[in-house]
Amino acid sequence: MNDDVKSASLAAASHEGPVAEIDLSALCANYAMIDHATPTAKVGAAVKCNAYGLGLSPVARALFERGCDEFFVVYAEEGAALRAALNDTAPHIYCFAGPSEDTLALYERAKLTPVINSLAQAQLWASRGNQPAAVHIDTGMNRIGAPLSEAAAISASLKEAGLEVSVVMSHLACASDPAHPKNEEQRALFVEAAQHFPGARLSLAASAGALMGKAYQFDLVRPGIALYGGSPFESDDDRIRNVVTLKARIVQLRDLQPGETVGYGAAYTATVPTRIASVALGYGDGYPRNSAPAGAAIVNGARSAIAGRISMDFITLDITDQKNPVKIGDYAEFFGPRLRLFEAALATHRSPYDLLTGLGGRVDHRYL
Ligand SMILES: *Cc1c(COP(=O)(O)O)cnc(C)c1O
Repeated sequence: MNDDVKSASLAAASHEGPVAEIDLSALCANYAMIDHATPTAKVGAAVKCNAYGLGLSPVARALFERGCDEFFVVYAEEGAALRAALNDTAPHIYCFAGPSEDTLALYERAKLTPVINSLAQAQLWASRGNQPAAVHIDTGMNRIGAPLSEAAAISASLKEAGLEVSVVMSHLACASDPAHPKNEEQRALFVEAAQHFPGARLSLAASAGALMGKAYQFDLVRPGIALYGGSPFESDDDRIRNVVTLKARIVQLRDLQPGETVGYGAAYTATVPTRIASVALGYGDGYPRNSAPAGAAIVNGARSAIAGRISMDFITLDITDQKNPVKIGDYAEFFGPRLRLFEAALATHRSPYDLLTGLGGRVDHRYL
């Protein structure tokens, strides 16, 4: 073993900080579930933002091995990293940001498919690009994507250059609420937009749209959060399996008398004899600071509430009612199979999306 390997394995063996266990078989089970729920559409994967914080390379490789060959990121740089991780030129990699003067070379070198968001980007790709493009037409999100009024000109510009439009896409603003009338409005506008791109495959749905039934599925769906174990809806969805378990070790135990307080601001006061466990996880690791008092963790299979303020490196749990003995070194689970990501997000005033993408650099990722 060389010194680098030795010190890396020593660090892994003596890891004291928080751990995110990532169950790649559950990831693939979610992929299969979405595939099953979308019988006439192909399932791509949104792996932007480091696969929502889970790790681009292991996540994308597991999905690729499972049969996924269309991936979505935002930037060309992410696309190039993904191409290197997959080490295969066949899978399609779409970059939502679209091309710029600065990134054209990267698009070519890594064989990335740009998502054209404006007539200006279409003209740039028409003059300098040499591969098929996707086009994003905005249908009411008013974020990125070209306005419907530019669809004809974008189509003409790419066609003149002899460039194929392989996918035309749009993005739903209100799919977290399947009953929202904007979903149907956007669907109708999307169908209208698609008429400017004959022969292109149609893609409207992210996780929520894909799980909303046939009307939104079209030819290609682009789930992200549902692959990673989060519900895209305003309530939990038990079709989605947990993928990430966030856990951290108990580093101290302490018994308080009534009247004693816990943590910054003395925000928690014991009213009865109380046992507190301090856990090596804090807002510096991405567990939201405003999570008390609704936030909780699983210790030895039973639930304990957060007591007092969350600090950068530590969370204090009230373990007074734990039936099983709790020892230093035991793990507390902040989300996982026994405390759903959706529930943890609700309790911490977050969404499953920002709980996952917010996990900090000290969290050790372990792949199962
Ligand atoms: C992030 C993103 C997705 C995936 O969204 P989820 O809600 O995580 O499934 C799909 N399409 C676009 C355009 C996105 O930005």
